[in-house]
Amino acid sequence: MKGDIIKKFLVFLFSFILFLSFLTLNIVKIDAKKVKILDNSGPFYFEDATYYLGKLYGIKIDPEILKEHENLFSEKDTFCIVLMYHNIYTNKRINSYDVSKNDFLKHIEILKKYGFENITLNDLYYFVKFNKKIPKRSVVFTFDDGFKSVMLASNILKENGFNGVASLITGYIDSSWEVNKGEIKTLISNKFEISLHSHKFHNFYLELLKEKNYKKIEEDIKTSKKYFKYNFKIEPIAFTYPLGAFDDKIENILENLNFKLGLGLCKNFVNKYGEDPLYISRIEISERRKYSDPKKFEKLIKMITNSN
Ligand SMILES: [Zn+2]
Repeated sequence: MKGDIIKKFLVFLFSFILFLSFLTLNIVKIDAKKVKILDNSGPFYFEDATYYLGKLYGIKIDPEILKEHENLFSEKDTFCIVLMYHNIYTNKRINSYDVSKNDFLKHIEILKKYGFENITLNDLYYFVKFNKKIPKRSVVFTFDDGFKSVMLASNILKENGFNGVASLITGYIDSSWEVNKGEIKTLISNKFEISLHSHKFHNFYLELLKEKNYKKIEEDIKTSKKYFKYNFKIEPIAFTYPLGAFDDKIENILENLNFKLGLGLCKNFVNKYGEDPLYISRIEISERRKYSDPKKFEKLIKMITNSN
């Protein structure tokens, strides 16, 4: 019995020494200039970067590596706000979710005044998941339901050096109110991004969730994905939860379908490193929530920048 314990202890000691010697052998000086980041924009960026920098012992001892590290990772107080718009109207609003073009222009000015910079969905994912370096105050504009006015919004954003995301209900593309295929192609060629937002069942997701009809939800998301890939040769990395319908099971469905981001409603005002990329918090900017009013919008932005 006693011999057994001694034997186990010796095996443990031996493994531990082996582990220590492994660590020691791995403390090699890495030449930061030789750190190769294979793809600076694509989804492999971070895997490559963290792979090379993964030899974290190096970071502590080599100032070059430390510099490289600072270039790759965000500072502690970095955050990203994601704004949720629906229709942008010029003359007549459709409903209380709308925002007027003039107010929208003012929102952009306010964000610029407070030093906000635009990032892509990919950057948002890598920031939340791995703390990828993004501007300290980042913003993503999203437009839900694919109203035709997203074309106007996209032009306004472009003129201001910004970009955005259209959440499309794929089953209604080419309908009277949603953007058509040609317009979507224009958006894509302008590097406007796409998030899927259901195929045909947008208005029923909360009901389906209540009935626990995950099968139907999954089918709808799959159809949307398939439709988009077939027509535009693109597989969007984001899904926007219709009516905010969300739970662990829907999150699992998205994960299994290789979505990286799930765009939700306002759980928090900001998104930070370490949070769940499959539930990105968004702030609804609409006339019904009153944040469309430029004065209220500025107050909100001021509050967010002061408290983060
Ligand atoms: Zn919607």
